[in-house]
Amino acid sequence: MTIYLNGQYMPVEDAKISVLDRGFIFGDGVYEVIPVYSRRAFRLAEHLRRLQHSLDEIRLPNPHSLTEWADIITGLIAANEPDDQYLYLHITRGVARRDHPFPNPPVPPTVFAMSNPLPAPRAGLLGVSAVTAVDNRWLRCDIKAISLLPNVLLRQMAVDAGCAETVLLRAGTPGEAAFLTEGAASNIFVVKNGVLLAPPKGQLMLPGITYDVILEIAEACDIPYSVRKIPADEVFDADELLLTSSTREVMAITHLDGKPVGNAVPGPMFHKIYQLYQEFKINVMRI
Ligand code: PLP
Repeated sequence: MTIYLNGQYMPVEDAKISVLDRGFIFGDGVYEVIPVYSRRAFRLAEHLRRLQHSLDEIRLPNPHSLTEWADIITGLIAANEPDDQYLYLHITRGVARRDHPFPNPPVPPTVFAMSNPLPAPRAGLLGVSAVTAVDNRWLRCDIKAISLLPNVLLRQMAVDAGCAETVLLRAGTPGEAAFLTEGAASNIFVVKNGVLLAPPKGQLMLPGITYDVILEIAEACDIPYSVRKIPADEVFDADELLLTSSTREVMAITHLDGKPVGNAVPGPMFHKIYQLYQEFKINVMRI
């Protein structure tokens, strides 16, 4: 595997960073994950825009222009197999004596990128099981921060239960019901009576690039949809639940907390959106 680190491509075995890197010490950094189909990055502009948002919110200047990012990514894709990959970009606030405030004067950021084979989307066609958990993360889930300990623990809950994902329910304000935010590493949609429901973007969830694609598809193909706060009881009473992410695309959640979701098989909304998503991908990659 060839990786990119601070201006150079190298075998992953040769890549070294300091133990004083603020990513290692504080989790002080942000990341992006970008799918690559037929050696072309999918929705690159949108991913780089979200990376800029994450960097802005942690007050870390972007070390590269869009053109430089595109060049780094092109080099990485060319140096790795297979044709369908996913890229991981990782930027930290660099190496400095351990102290919480930003290094002053600033130090060069650490820029790391790697590529991995993209899992085949068909694996999700059978449907997956999920568990629910209280969303106990911080209040800035819109930042794609590398400090992912809560997500790691929440996702492990799913694995321990033999499931693929943990659906997160954030406690409401006093008197208000808990509501759906997202998955531990995905966005979640609810389907009820033929309507696709999506939680609204904000600081309590990651603005998924796949989430945006799904809503664009719904809009373009006259699929009834609504973006609104979704109380927990609507999640448990759903006809269908969908999970989306750049690496898992769209999957049906057929069991939640051990109980069937709807008919316990991927439903008509899933099949429609899955199909449209595959067509959307092919059309985009043709351009
Ligand atoms: N929410 C969280 C917490 C994630 O980690 C991810 C992706 O890994 C997503 C949502 C989905 O975002 P995207 O569709 O951009 O991959």
